[in-house]
Amino acid sequence: MVTVHEAETLLFDKLTPLSPERVSLSKACGRILLEPILADRALPPFDRVAMDGIAVSFSQLESGRHRFFSNGIQRAGEPCLQLRDSEGCLEVMTGAPLPGGCDCVIPYEDVEFIDNHFLVKKRIQTSFLKNVHPLGADIKAGEGALEPGIRLLPTHLAVAAAVGATTLAVSRQPAIGVISTGNELVSPETIPLPYQIRQSNSFAIQSCLISHGFPVRTNRHLRDNEEIIRDALGMLLITHDVLIFSGGVSKGRFDFLPDALKDGKVHIVFHGVNQKPGKPFLFGIHPSCGALVFGLPGNPISCLVALYRYVVPALFRMSGLVKPLEKRVLMSETVMAAKNGFVRFLPVKLVGDASGRWSAKITNSNGSGDFLSLTHSDGFVEVPAEGASNGAWLPYFSWSGV
Ligand code: AMP
Ligand code: MG
Repeated sequence: MVTVHEAETLLFDKLTPLSPERVSLSKACGRILLEPILADRALPPFDRVAMDGIAVSFSQLESGRHRFFSNGIQRAGEPCLQLRDSEGCLEVMTGAPLPGGCDCVIPYEDVEFIDNHFLVKKRIQTSFLKNVHPLGADIKAGEGALEPGIRLLPTHLAVAAAVGATTLAVSRQPAIGVISTGNELVSPETIPLPYQIRQSNSFAIQSCLISHGFPVRTNRHLRDNEEIIRDALGMLLITHDVLIFSGGVSKGRFDFLPDALKDGKVHIVFHGVNQKPGKPFLFGIHPSCGALVFGLPGNPISCLVALYRYVVPALFRMSGLVKPLEKRVLMSETVMAAKNGFVRFLPVKLVGDASGRWSAKITNSNGSGDFLSLTHSDGFVEVPAEGASNGAWLPYFSWSGV
């Protein structure tokens, strides 16, 4: 048996980075970037007009001029015009280049059009380069726009598009197999016999993985039969990077997975963690094909907790994510020390008080099998063996992901 910390260290030590592949911008959301993206041009690439209005020479305003005759219109998407008469102005549209000879934009709201002239309202506050987004203010050509090791979000993709990075090197998605085990389980569309239950773990596992950007290649169910498991394992190991089993890893007489894995030459790195729920959690690696094997306990709460606590962070690490995923939340109640020295994972709901401060409240449950209670929680906290006081900040894992 290992501690939570040891389990994490042993697991992370065994991970090898996934190779890169190039994907188009439209397919890159949620993937981990593996290359720096440089700006091919400055942003903004020209002195960009930031308001619809008139562009003038600021020195004219400073010297008291309020009436400006229009020299024409500078539209967005057209080459830069030149103000011919420094005492005049050009109408300018947002997104247009600032015309030569102009260094200040006054929005239409602050001018009136009278007798073919724009009249600047007396009480407006303006300054040099007001309402102008200057060339290169955000980034210079050749500078780094995006760092490797980030999870690409819509904000990053906007930047990549703006600097012309139309394909991006991201980590390839691992081939993942999700395998549930158990003779009592039937598929959800079946009307179960009185002693059967509908299998739910693989739907939870698959949807968790998809929501984190990891599609599942294979979904299978295996009966609690040593031979069946052993036979299936051979092919599953050589065709997947990661196998995620649920059930069959405890001490029951029909929990065959650990022995089947050993027969299949999988090196069991650890089996059993000082944690509640999820004590029977198993992790192994096949020494030659490198496939990782996670044995999640079948109990639906244990299964999900181990998935979010270990498997998802491992997948992100293999993918090259640099920033740690850990978030913390403030506890709104005291949690007593565990008698057996175990770390506990407790489902919590985030609640806001009148002052807008959010804190975590432990959700009620009818016991370890009550996975319906999870639907009233937002995620779970990791409570150290010594417990936690009201007001402590604890590591938090959100069901809705990163
Ligand atoms: P096991 O770890 O196989 O001993 O299973 C522990 C408990 O979890 C048992 O009550 C199982 O019926 C239940 N269980 C196992 N696998 C699943 C599954 N895929 N979906 C729902 N419940 C499961
Ligand atoms: Mg079972």
